[in-house]
Amino acid sequence: METVVITGGSRGIGLALSQRFLALGYHVITSYRGTPSAAQMALADSSRLTLLELEVTNSDSVVQFAADVKTALAGRPLDILINNAGVIGPDAQAFDTVEAQAWLETLSVNTIAPLMVSRALLPLMTEAKRPRLVSISSQMSSLVGTGLGMYAYRSAKAALNKVMQVLSMEQAEHGIVVCPIDPGWVQTDMGGDAADITVDVCANGIAAVVEGLTMAQTGQFLTWEGSVRPW
Ligand code: NDP
Repeated sequence: METVVITGGSRGIGLALSQRFLALGYHVITSYRGTPSAAQMALADSSRLTLLELEVTNSDSVVQFAADVKTALAGRPLDILINNAGVIGPDAQAFDTVEAQAWLETLSVNTIAPLMVSRALLPLMTEAKRPRLVSISSQMSSLVGTGLGMYAYRSAKAALNKVMQVLSMEQAEHGIVVCPIDPGWVQTDMGGDAADITVDVCANGIAAVVEGLTMAQTGQFLTWEGSVRPW
């Protein structure tokens, strides 16, 4: 049985990914802040589900999370890490309104935390047969995009892509596939009701992409449908 860690599983894409990987037969380890959400608790019937607390921006929490994951693995390796937890950032993100502190907080969650969580968990992945590490990015990061405003969110996800590309090159010698993935525009609290795809369509797509990842794809920026997205 393979194990996947999914950060930010209380709702949205992380919750749907938890459901999908449980349906596919994985041991799913997923995180919450404070207490598990009702929807997460509803998943807890499965003996293959482990719920752990994690605040991705808190270094003590990340260290404790890694220790708890190791305990839950009971000597088995971690096969897949999905850095999903993220924030859209402050309401005010236009040229005239974005403020430094709120921008820094967005970078902390969306850019820095995925590397810190990855650093804490990578030692658990080295013995896996096909270790894969993906971080949920956004099409709003793309350097060929033409969207305006949203300075904090766009820059945080663009920087996340670069962080993951560097990590992919450094981890290649260990056979660990590392990719940022654009999940599409998804109907969640963040994406809103008008978004293009349901959370289940998104999660099924991402799960299929992650299951099929090979070293030939490491360092690529992929979409939830598996195609290569321009950086
Ligand atoms: P939601 O806002 O619905 O869910 C965000 C999840 O991240 C929640 O579980 C939340 O936990 C968790 N989270 C946020 N901050 C932290 C933190 N500091 N520590 C731990 N967990 C945290 O967002 P989505 O499901 O829509 O988004 C998931 C990912 O997909 C994000 O990285 C987002 O940027 C990305 N994305 C989403 C798109 C969309 O259209 N929805 C489009 C492109 C990218 P809690 O419930 O405790 O707040």
